[in-house]
Amino acid sequence: MMGEGLPSIVLNPIQIRVKQEVANKVKTGEYDFESVFCAVCNADNPECIAERDRYGLYFSVCICKQCGFVYTNPRMTQSAYSAFYDNEYRPLYVGSEVAGEAFFREQQKQGKRIYEFLDSANQISTRPMRVLEVGCGAGGILDFFRSKGHEVMGIDLGSEYVNYGSKHHSLDLRVSTLADFYCKDAIDLIVYSHVMEHILDLYAEIKAIRCLCSSQTKLYIEVPGIKNIHKNYSMDAMTYYQNAHAYHFTLHSIRALLKPHGFAMIAGNEYVKSVFSIGDDSFSQRDEYQSVLYYFRWNERFRWLFPLSIAGVKRTLKRIKDRLMGN
Ligand SMILES: [Zn+2]
Repeated sequence: MMGEGLPSIVLNPIQIRVKQEVANKVKTGEYDFESVFCAVCNADNPECIAERDRYGLYFSVCICKQCGFVYTNPRMTQSAYSAFYDNEYRPLYVGSEVAGEAFFREQQKQGKRIYEFLDSANQISTRPMRVLEVGCGAGGILDFFRSKGHEVMGIDLGSEYVNYGSKHHSLDLRVSTLADFYCKDAIDLIVYSHVMEHILDLYAEIKAIRCLCSSQTKLYIEVPGIKNIHKNYSMDAMTYYQNAHAYHFTLHSIRALLKPHGFAMIAGNEYVKSVFSIGDDSFSQRDEYQSVLYYFRWNERFRWLFPLSIAGVKRTLKRIKDRLMGN
């Protein structure tokens, strides 16, 4: 059951080799697993909905029958994940062993998208903001904010990427967790871009974020939304699942996780892109079990129509453009 299967995406030779290394470590127990309760409602009432990720690795995804939150269970332990991030994460996910300019440029583009989302929600201040990114990688997102006149700093656990951004782009990046991070000045904007789904102890992380926030601080959280598979993942959940993801969010579940810590949502969508600040959130949590399962079944049923959808046509045009440009 814990052996590997076929991938759902095309892998390059580096990815094929690294995937096999991970699969072997899972098989021999070098990467061990633990069972966990639902992070939203704390129930232990899971129903398994998938057993493989897009690389074909063992990956057990469950939906909580009590509240509908989707999470990985059992999942790798913290020590197994730490070793995985050190050894196989970047080569498996990026398809390259080293930090480079192509990765940095992709991060810059992501910085622009985040900036535009915040601007459309009127959350970009006209005066320079102090921006902290957690899980900044090489710092390309921060580089975009810096180009707009803001003061930026970033933390990440991957030293190679942090060193790349510090050395080649003179960014203020440090190897640190949020719990160990100290800054004497108030932070105006905290950015989590595709990071929250990797963090095992969400409660402790959100608590640490809360400690850094003043009444003026904005918190931007972006994660791959499980109700957005029809747009970003060709309606195919199997291309969305990745073994490093411990949680699979909807906008609703992000909001439900942040509310008990005193955060209220300012704006958000099912992509998921969302921005919060300290305050009372008036929303009430509902059970998402039926709506999530209905959404998955709908995608399964109508996946064959994806090439005809607007997202499908856009994807085909992008592929043709990439081919013509020689990408
Ligand atoms: Zn639950």
